[in-house]
Amino acid sequence: MASAGGGPRGSVRPERHVQTGRGGNGGSSSTRTKSAPPKRPSSSSAKSSIDSDNAADAVRVRVAVRLRPKNNEDFIEDGDFTSCVELQPEAKKLRLKKNNWSSELYKFDEVFTEGASQRRVYEAVAKPVVESVLEGYNGTVMAYGQTGTGKTYTMGRLGKDDPSERGIMVRALEDILASISSLTDSVAISYLQLYLESLQDLLAPDKINIPIVEDPKSGDVSLPGAAVVELRDIDHFNELLQFGEANRYAANTNLNTESSRSHAILVVHVQRSVKVKDENEGASVVSSTDDLLAASNHVPIVLKSKLLIVDLAGSERIDKSGSVEGPMLEEAKFINLSLTSLGKCINALAEHSPYIPTRDSKLTRLLRDSFGGTARTSLIITIGPSARYYSETSSTILFGQRAMKIVNTVKLKEEVDYESLYKKLECQVDSLTSELERIQKIRQDEKAKIERKLRKQEDSLAETKRTFTTKCENLEKENNCMTMEIKKLMEELNDALDQNNLLSGRIVEMEMSLSQNKQQQLENSTYKKALSDSTQMYEDRIKALLEQVEKEQARCAYLELEMCGARQEVANNENSSKMQENSKVNELQKELHKLKEESRNEIQHLEAKNSELLSEKDLIYEELKSMQEKVMQEAKHRRSLEDEILKLKKALSENSAVQLERGTSMLRTTSGVGGGAIYLPRTGKSRDTIPNQKDTISKIFEEVGLSNILALLKSEDLDVQIHAVKVVANLAAEDINQEKIVEEGGLDALLSLLETSENTTIHRVTAGALANLAMNGSNQGLIMNKGGARLLANVANKNDDPQTLRMVAGAIANLCGNEKLHVKLKEDGGIKALVGMVRSGHADVISQIARGIANFAKCESRAISQGHRKGRSLLMDDGALKWMVTSPTTFSASTRRHIELAFCHLSQNEENTRDIITSGGIKELVRISQESTRDDIRILAKKALNSNPAFLREIQ
Ligand code: ADP
Ligand code: MG
Repeated sequence: MASAGGGPRGSVRPERHVQTGRGGNGGSSSTRTKSAPPKRPSSSSAKSSIDSDNAADAVRVRVAVRLRPKNNEDFIEDGDFTSCVELQPEAKKLRLKKNNWSSELYKFDEVFTEGASQRRVYEAVAKPVVESVLEGYNGTVMAYGQTGTGKTYTMGRLGKDDPSERGIMVRALEDILASISSLTDSVAISYLQLYLESLQDLLAPDKINIPIVEDPKSGDVSLPGAAVVELRDIDHFNELLQFGEANRYAANTNLNTESSRSHAILVVHVQRSVKVKDENEGASVVSSTDDLLAASNHVPIVLKSKLLIVDLAGSERIDKSGSVEGPMLEEAKFINLSLTSLGKCINALAEHSPYIPTRDSKLTRLLRDSFGGTARTSLIITIGPSARYYSETSSTILFGQRAMKIVNTVKLKEEVDYESLYKKLECQVDSLTSELERIQKIRQDEKAKIERKLRKQEDSLAETKRTFTTKCENLEKENNCMTMEIKKLMEELNDALDQNNLLSGRIVEMEMSLSQNKQQQLENSTYKKALSDSTQMYEDRIKALLEQVEKEQARCAYLELEMCGARQEVANNENSSKMQENSKVNELQKELHKLKEESRNEIQHLEAKNSELLSEKDLIYEELKSMQEKVMQEAKHRRSLEDEILKLKKALSENSAVQLERGTSMLRTTSGVGGGAIYLPRTGKSRDTIPNQKDTISKIFEEVGLSNILALLKSEDLDVQIHAVKVVANLAAEDINQEKIVEEGGLDALLSLLETSENTTIHRVTAGALANLAMNGSNQGLIMNKGGARLLANVANKNDDPQTLRMVAGAIANLCGNEKLHVKLKEDGGIKALVGMVRSGHADVISQIARGIANFAKCESRAISQGHRKGRSLLMDDGALKWMVTSPTTFSASTRRHIELAFCHLSQNEENTRDIITSGGIKELVRISQESTRDDIRILAKKALNSNPAFLREIQ
């Protein structure tokens, strides 16, 4: 029951507001109360009965009326009377008949006839309140009526024998216990009796005067002295209820009272935990507590509600019971006090009186929340059918009617469960603290680890630095060694190249000697044939002579025969003229003797001739035999020469392979191309082999002496001159002789011979000798200084003999391999003469020209790269470039390689760019870069193309 001045009553619109306050158990808590949700608790039967009204009735005190069936007393006492009440359950109306002509019709929320089952009564009256309590609202279910009309039957029946008779208390607790979670929720009860304004604890009978405590702020009523027993299950409750009933009975027996005079109050405390997300609270949450809670996703909320089930004392007037004396009067006063107070409060609330006398009695204080308060309240009034109790029944009905007018403002009571929140936060703090400690420990360990690592790294860095320094020093040393080695290798390579050139020359010589050998062999066979022919002829002649001898002998015989005939004739004619005859005989005898003498002489002459011929034949046979031996020797020598050539070729190819392996970088540093000693070819019918020739020459050299040989160069006799120059030329092919030849004035003699002589052979052999001398670097300078290049150029321009040109080209080619002489060589017309010899078209000459130009280009390129020389190539004039670009591809492979190499070297020099482009050399360069048989030359060509932007532009 709301206290006086507690705000406007009868408001049908539930208000939503939040309250904070203090809980009953001393701890700090936040309590939120809010108005009932628009949705009513769902209960099928409840909906069909009480809930059928509009939403405004949702919080009105619900009142049902129950009529007790007639009992024996009624049948006996009221035998003549008809019932004073007439129920219209469908219309939920009750007609109270005062007498046969006067009656009143009353409407209730529910009207139960005498046949209504306990279950239906529970579901219509109490179940909506129970469900509301489970949702967190306070609730009250109360029975009011005259003694014996069935209040206790309706409320407190245990139904031990017949479960269908279970009353509201048992059914309510069954529903509550079935709905809550045993883990998070709890249900506890207190059971009290209010008698003569004294509250007795029926669960703890010793407690006989329990105080009622009201919270001054929230107005909550609590009974701190009463036992509150937490329920385990429904059996536990039944036991407690039975225990309470027994205590009530005992107390009433001791006090000599009746239970009908006392009020029985069952207080059910329901506590339910719900997790509410903070965001559900919306913007209205402003307290610091809520701010704190915002840290957690779920705020533990406890719904605390209270259900009061009250079985009131009988409402009949005391005087009717007939005992109005002594303590009974006192009792009647007090019983009346509580019930009267309740009636007054109900009246005041129904009439919207500004003053509600709640504080007048303990009952009204206890029920403060049930009428005009925040609880959902259902009242069942019980009436009997007997007309004898018309006035009690009437007053009960009026009480109910007034109570129906009371509107409560139900409020939800939510409390933040600080205890569990605290525990939860404490847990979180604990776990965070230990996590923090763990992390701190890990950090410390890691820091120590990193520090150790750092120290280690520093140590290893210092160590690395030391090693690095030592390594650097070692590398520097190694580098120096390598540089030296490279230098050495370069020198070796140059030597190898020189050797290579020498070998090439020798091969050419060998090849030539081979071809000559072949020619000689051919000559031998012709000679053999002539020999056999002459032998045949002599044999024929001998045969003819023999035939002639035979013929002469036959003639002799014939003459002897004739002589015999003549003798016969003489004998026959003896008789006729003996004298005559005798003289004739003498004559004849003389003639015969003469003839005989002649024949004998002739025979002797023929025989001498025959023997002469035979000895000549023997001689010829011997000569033939020695020729055959020589031929065999030649063949043998040829074979050995061929073997040597093969070996030399092999060595040359190996040398080339090595050269290739050393790569293009080495190629740039090589000192020259080809070049080698030239052995002069022997004249057609000379049968000397090269070693023989050399042997002969060395014999001449030893026996005659170099100075004498050189003196012969100035001989008047051309033949002597030719032979002397041949000997000098061949001597000049040997390295060891070159120095001596020059020392003893051989070079001067050769040069003057070249200048003065008009003889082609002299020119050829002298050029060969100069070519041999020009193989030596120091001689090259001397030759040039003494005007050798100019003289060679003159010879080249005057002659067309390929062998002479070959020698001259070879000599100039050797001079091309000395970069210091290039300028003079050009000035003296050496280059022009070299290129001019192209006109010969002879492969040997072309080969020497190509070698010379390659030598020149290579040395020039090297000088440019080393910085000794600058500017356009000296080969650019005199037609060398043009010849290189347009030279036919039919040249031998080595000639082509020399030309390609020379051209690639020229292309490396940027100063030659214009000449190369205008001569159409780009095409040739591209062709070389793709088609050259040599890798190093292709690389050189590509390098030239790629490094020269002008070339690249030309290609595009
Ligand atoms: P009250 O508590 O109001 O004094 P009780 O509950 O003690 O009345 O009821 C008196 C008697 O009437 C009891 O014997 C009870 O069994 C019986 N009684 C009351 N109401 C009914 C009912 N609806 N059906 C059957 N018996 C009833
Ligand atoms: Mg009773």
